[in-house]
Amino acid sequence: MQPVYKHKKRKAAGPNKNEKKVMREMEAERRIGMAGTLKERYPSVQRLTIQLNFISPQGHLLEQQTRHYGPADACDFSATCLGRCGGTGSFDLESKIKEVISTRRAASDNTGTCQEKLYPGSADCCGSRLQCKIEVSYQPGN
Ligand SMILES: [Zn+2]
Repeated sequence: MQPVYKHKKRKAAGPNKNEKKVMREMEAERRIGMAGTLKERYPSVQRLTIQLNFISPQGHLLEQQTRHYGPADACDFSATCLGRCGGTGSFDLESKIKEVISTRRAASDNTGTCQEKLYPGSADCCGSRLQCKIEVSYQPGN
C-alpha cells in the first residue's frame, strides 16, 4: 500500500514588499553585529573612506555616497544597488577592502556591475554599475 498524503492547500503568498524591507533591515543589523569594528578587524587602519558612485546602465549618475569609517565604526562594507533591480542586488566591498589593507595601499579604484536579474526568470540583468574609490590612512608606526 502506498501511503496517502494529503496535500494541504497553501496560499502562494510570499513576503510582501514591506516584509522584505524589514527582513533586509534585520539582515543588515545582523551583519553589522557580526562584522566587528574597524579597530578589531584592521588594527593598522586609522581611517577608511569609501566613495561610491552608482551609475545606471545608460551611464547616468544615480547617486553619490561617501562613507567614512573610524576605528570604532562597524565594518559594514556592503552597498545596496540603486539600479533597476530595486535594491535586490548589492555590492560587497569587503574582499576588495581586505586586499587593499593587506597590501597596505593608500587608494584603490574599482568598478562592479550588478548582475541581479530584473525579476526571477528574467533574461535581463540590472546592469547598474558601482564605481568605488577606497582610501585608507594607516596608524603611524604600524
Ligand atoms: Zn542592481
